[in-house]
Amino acid sequence: MNAYLQSVLEDIKERHGHQKEFIQAVEEVFTCVEPVVDKHPEYENADLLTRMVDPERMFSFRITWMDDNGKWHTNRGWRCQFNGAIGPYKGGLRFQKNVNTGIIKFLGFEQTFKNSLTGLPIGGAKGGSDFDPAGKSDAEIMRFCQSYMTALYRYIGPDIDVPAGDMGVGGREIGYLFGQYRRLKGKWENGVLTGKGLSYGGSLIRPEATGYGAIYYLCEVLKHNNDTIEGKRIATSGYGNVAWGIMKKAAQLGAKVTYFSGPDGYVYDPDGVTTDEKLNYILEMRAKDPMHCKPYADKFGCKFVAGEKAWGEADVDVCMPAATQNDVNLECAKKIVASGVKYYMEVANMPTTADALEYLRSHKDIAVGPSKAVNAGGVGVSALEMAQNSERLVWTEDMVDEQLKNMMINIHKVSAEAAEEYGLGYDLVAGANIAGFKKVAEAMMEQGCF
Ligand code: GLU
Repeated sequence: MNAYLQSVLEDIKERHGHQKEFIQAVEEVFTCVEPVVDKHPEYENADLLTRMVDPERMFSFRITWMDDNGKWHTNRGWRCQFNGAIGPYKGGLRFQKNVNTGIIKFLGFEQTFKNSLTGLPIGGAKGGSDFDPAGKSDAEIMRFCQSYMTALYRYIGPDIDVPAGDMGVGGREIGYLFGQYRRLKGKWENGVLTGKGLSYGGSLIRPEATGYGAIYYLCEVLKHNNDTIEGKRIATSGYGNVAWGIMKKAAQLGAKVTYFSGPDGYVYDPDGVTTDEKLNYILEMRAKDPMHCKPYADKFGCKFVAGEKAWGEADVDVCMPAATQNDVNLECAKKIVASGVKYYMEVANMPTTADALEYLRSHKDIAVGPSKAVNAGGVGVSALEMAQNSERLVWTEDMVDEQLKNMMINIHKVSAEAAEEYGLGYDLVAGANIAGFKKVAEAMMEQGCF
């Protein structure tokens, strides 16, 4: 890393060193963009890199809500408007017990470059709360969401900041959040949130978009290797919206997800999650209990291994971690390499620990797809939802799917070209970081001191 990047990194570590995930995300980007920064000495004078790692604005607020027994509870909420150089702030809300300032900042930082990669005009943001949705009733979720939006509504808007879902925030939560926004504003501004229900401005394909996009991206990587998706066996982690979209699109294209996992362990289904019955059962199972995937194994007579992850199995062609950050550590990465897998596509945000990612990338016979590229289809379709809302139109499923596919083809292409331009060969991790960074950097430089 050059002296300027090194000094910015030291400074950020000194000031925010306890925010481990954030530092990890910054280090990955800095390592990858070094050749670009070398080429642009003017960035140092403009202090561009410090500006890029320092969020433009970040709020923290109290959320008080009442449970079904009339007892009051207090949680913390955050919204980090990380970078608005290329468009209104855009990014999801995560409701999960372990959420804190560092997690929100890492996600907002990643989102900035991911959103840039989509090629659409969206800046980077992220938000959430340390509220734990597990075991809450529908009415409790509604009251929590209303309270959350009461604290947030004056700082967001269709041209200001457009939140969406992330872990713990799906269609139901977005509905309650939007209802409260509409009540407070007294205005029909459905472009303020994405991931909405179809009855009030949601986009077709949005729930599946991240998973579908990840498979479209994988197809491009396979094409680069003169290979095809036909018959590929995929191991994933998680069985949320994202993993579900992967299962569905893989099945449509003649591949199959044979391993998936939940917090309780992993399922091995050698026939793959390919039928409508199985795909629908996963939705049902998740709605009932997001913590256990064993019921799938019981229902379909498959193997279930308690407390383990499915990384490193020999009968797998592609690994697609789609659960959460730092899910794949060095030990898992070693097993993956030893198993002979040729494709490792990150789908969750930063699912690989830094040492594991370095290890995987050092094996040149494995194609590694970075999360900010592979999962960008989700937010990409969110931007298409914003476009539909501002046009007051609804696009057909085919129109959205076609645009999603082209977006993923383009993300792969610009990433591969960026790596090539800097003499790095077919390095998709470096390429995605460089391509995402360049556009944000240019926009910030052109807009002057800000
Ligand atoms: N939370 C998703 C992500 O990590 C989607 C964000 C959005 O649609 O705004 O990209």
